[in-house]
Amino acid sequence: MSEDHGKDYTLEGDSELRFEIEQKDAKVLVSLVNGFAELFGTELVKKKKYEFGLGAKVAIYTFQGCVLHVSGKMDVCYISKETPMVQYVNCHAALEQFRAEAEEKDRRGPVAMVVGPMDVGKSTLCRILLNYAVRVGRRPLYADLDVGQGAIAISGNVATILIERPASVEDGFPKTAPLVYHFGHKSPSGNSVLYNAVVSKMAEVTLQSMNNNKRTKSSGIIINTCGWVKGSGYAHLLHAAQAYGACAIFVLDQERLYNELLRDVPKGVNVVLLPKSGGVVERSKELRHESRDQRIKEYFYGNARTPFYPFSFEVKFQDLRLYKIGAPPLPDSCMPIGMKAEDNKTKVVAVTPTPALIHHVLALSFAESVEDDVIGTNIAGFCCVTEVDMERQAVMLLSPQPRPLPPNALLLWSELQFMDNHT
Ligand code: ATP
Repeated sequence: MSEDHGKDYTLEGDSELRFEIEQKDAKVLVSLVNGFAELFGTELVKKKKYEFGLGAKVAIYTFQGCVLHVSGKMDVCYISKETPMVQYVNCHAALEQFRAEAEEKDRRGPVAMVVGPMDVGKSTLCRILLNYAVRVGRRPLYADLDVGQGAIAISGNVATILIERPASVEDGFPKTAPLVYHFGHKSPSGNSVLYNAVVSKMAEVTLQSMNNNKRTKSSGIIINTCGWVKGSGYAHLLHAAQAYGACAIFVLDQERLYNELLRDVPKGVNVVLLPKSGGVVERSKELRHESRDQRIKEYFYGNARTPFYPFSFEVKFQDLRLYKIGAPPLPDSCMPIGMKAEDNKTKVVAVTPTPALIHHVLALSFAESVEDDVIGTNIAGFCCVTEVDMERQAVMLLSPQPRPLPPNALLLWSELQFMDNHT
């Protein structure tokens, strides 16, 4: 651990400064003194001070060379000359060729998937590719199918946003107007049939909507995926590639997965093996849990730069329209004629409130009734059950909205839990 009250770092071309912050209340300030530098594809503005806090794992890369001024307490800080950035830029250049051709012929631009095991920098590569795309005037879509971490919405959901400007250095991409579909589990294994159904629906809707905007249509989609790449996890990747009609799959750091994909995807799909950056840090199960929790906390409370002030209100059991997608499996012999046991996995079933509901995150659906296509209806937001009072037959909900729920509000149960101990 080093305490640093200000030091200039001189970086040669094609190198990066990496640092990590693991102490509570630690703060690191970085400014670009000279040259050009970027953080995961977002250009740094000269002399502007960027602030990073607990949990930050940062790499500031320079193509041409630069001088950075860094101050504050860091756990690790070093310059690395071994980075895969040139390969990543080449991927961007290849996508640009597809985009230029699509623009000329008024066709759909490239749909590129980023796949790989856990902690190889998939989300970071997506961010880099999206940033490079907007920097050259494109307007791509970002689809996040990783229900384990949830970079756009919170975990347990599949989401898509339109990227119109580079990510903020400190806060990432703005999460305005996302299309969010509820899944309700932290891993696709929670309900494989439902996961595939949600991904298919998301693919269908986004591919269709792209036709409404010429610029987005030719810019294409960058898809982030789960780190579960074996067995059924692999089957989910193949399903997503097929649902989106992916034309490129970037495989990070796993030759086995690369070869399996080469074998299984249609001939026209470009499968590219890429190295992971030495800077990507492996996270333990606890850390993954913590970062999931942090995302939910940020959803309700914002962060130090943009704090939010959520509301709490009571809802009587009789006014709570709470449902879950996926009924317990029944043997085929017990199913009505014409139905398969699999159909139960996407069935919307009512949930009776019990004390077990405490701390669960609920998604507020735009669907008006269970007869609607609940799986394919956007999520308006989330709330969290902070109290279940069986005597008064009521729950307390934490919500970003001040007023009680709309009268027909349909809430969807998720296995995610959040302990609201914010002070
Ligand atoms: P998951 O398995 O959760 O999907 P992932 O493969 O998407 O993980 P990322 O979230 O992209 O991995 O990266 C993990 C962490 O490593 C992030 O905190 C990110 O900021 C950090 N990181 C990525 N690239 C670098 C780098 N070149 N130098 C330092 N840190 C990096």
